[in-house]
Amino acid sequence: MELSPLCTEGISTDGCVVKSVRGHRKSKVPRDLEIDIEFLYKAVPQLAKVFRIIDKIGEGTFSSVYLGEAQMRDGRREMFALKHLIPTSHPTRIAAELQCLTVAGGRENVMGVTYCFRKEDHVVIVMPYMEHQAIVDIIGSLSFEEVRLYIYHLLKALRHIHQFGIIHRDIKPNNFLYNRSSKMYALVDFGLAQGTEETQIELLKVDLTGLRKVPRPVFGERNLNSCTPAPSTTKQVAAKTELVKPSKTEDPATRRYSSASRSLLPVRAQSSSQKPQRTVQQSLTCNCYLTDRVCNVCMSRKQQVAPRAGTPGFRAPEVLTKCPNQGTAIDVWSAGVILLSLLSGRYPFFKASDDLIALTQIMTIRGSRETIQAAKAFGKAVVCSRELPRQDLRTLCETLRGRRPSPDDEVPPFPEASKDSTVTHRHKDNTPTHCPSERTSKQHINGAGQTLPNHQEHSESSETTRYVKQSSVTSRKVEEDERGWDKVPDEAYDLLDQLLDLNPATRITAAQALQHPLFTDL
Ligand code: ADP
Ligand code: MG
Ligand code: ZN
Repeated sequence: MELSPLCTEGISTDGCVVKSVRGHRKSKVPRDLEIDIEFLYKAVPQLAKVFRIIDKIGEGTFSSVYLGEAQMRDGRREMFALKHLIPTSHPTRIAAELQCLTVAGGRENVMGVTYCFRKEDHVVIVMPYMEHQAIVDIIGSLSFEEVRLYIYHLLKALRHIHQFGIIHRDIKPNNFLYNRSSKMYALVDFGLAQGTEETQIELLKVDLTGLRKVPRPVFGERNLNSCTPAPSTTKQVAAKTELVKPSKTEDPATRRYSSASRSLLPVRAQSSSQKPQRTVQQSLTCNCYLTDRVCNVCMSRKQQVAPRAGTPGFRAPEVLTKCPNQGTAIDVWSAGVILLSLLSGRYPFFKASDDLIALTQIMTIRGSRETIQAAKAFGKAVVCSRELPRQDLRTLCETLRGRRPSPDDEVPPFPEASKDSTVTHRHKDNTPTHCPSERTSKQHINGAGQTLPNHQEHSESSETTRYVKQSSVTSRKVEEDERGWDKVPDEAYDLLDQLLDLNPATRITAAQALQHPLFTDL
């Protein structure tokens, strides 16, 4: 496997990492962590000559990220992030990720790369360590000004990578590191990146679709992306995702959910002509077109192959409907979802276990007619079993922030709450039933009486906390006002509206967004 000059053993890009600082290891590290670190030292022994691996700072489906300390020649100690890629990653995929970092990284809020180690199929990408806060931890205390700057810097990173013809494909707060006190920002994780037609990244010219399959668990580690009980202890928990299939003897309630999950279908665009061509297309004609059912013809239809990476809640409509021509606009959509999340104080905003649920949630905000119309523009027919009106973004965000009255503060937790709704179920027939976040989540009603995808609400018992809540509403509002949430300018919602343009052809670009009046002073 030829990766890049960076990956030849022993030569640092700046030649400064020399002295081993191992042996200073803390004696009190949790057992699991110790095992993981030992495993990494064994897998890539060169690491031990340079780094004292202190902690694990990230663990995803495709990598584990560690904090490593190195002693520099001049005696200084520096911290690095060591990203150990899953050994089953495709070599081209790894090389492409590295090339994005080396070519576009190190400036404009894009993370750079210092070094790369490899032994056999183990690859470790070394990056400068950037201390950061998780958005979920700070969203409740962010000021509007912080949100404005955050989005500005995210758009700057996007403009930069888009200039290189890089589509990141996984824009979300976890991949945009934010240091609140030092006001530093860094876009990371090019593990799903793809190239535009004119990309300047040679390795992104390769068709990378399908190279990053859901891997089998390796490193003996927990997979935090799946719905396993939160590992509150350091006890090893096997990643277990149960699929509950609808049985023949399903009860009416179950059937309601499963039909809801199917009530929304991206289907092949048909010509407006009433008579479909009955030649080659014959086998594709079906009985369920424009209904909320799925027939056997549809079930047996070959899936359209289109890149569909990323996290459902951040995916653009053209990604969710598997539109084959996807461009840099998909990252801009994700930035829009982040802005929506920050303005409304809800994270994550859209929490969907699959693409159709994600699309339904988009419709509850952006309108079903509007979504259907946009999909038509990019060649997809979308059917929704009921009409969902488009929401006013300011009203929506202010309601979710509790700044405006809503018809009912809270509705009982799912599923009782959604009896009347056929499109907003988040429990699909194949959702893991033991997922704790699902069990405790609540759905919220916005000003228009629409069930919204909710989130980030602490799972308090609404009965016992009602009084506390009401009395704290005023003081909370005062605090919020101090953070500038009483004077969010129209420009913020105008930009949000343009980032969340359902049609990628008219969606604002990152470069244009940076010129938006919201940022005139920056
Ligand atoms: P994955 O492909 O597994 O998502 P990422 O590159 O997104 O891997 O890294 C996972 C996590 O590790 C990030 O969300 C972040 O918290 C942490 N991380 C990654 N790179 C750095 C870095 N350079 N400095 C500090 N933390 C980092
Ligand atoms: Mg990531
Ligand atoms: Zn059909």
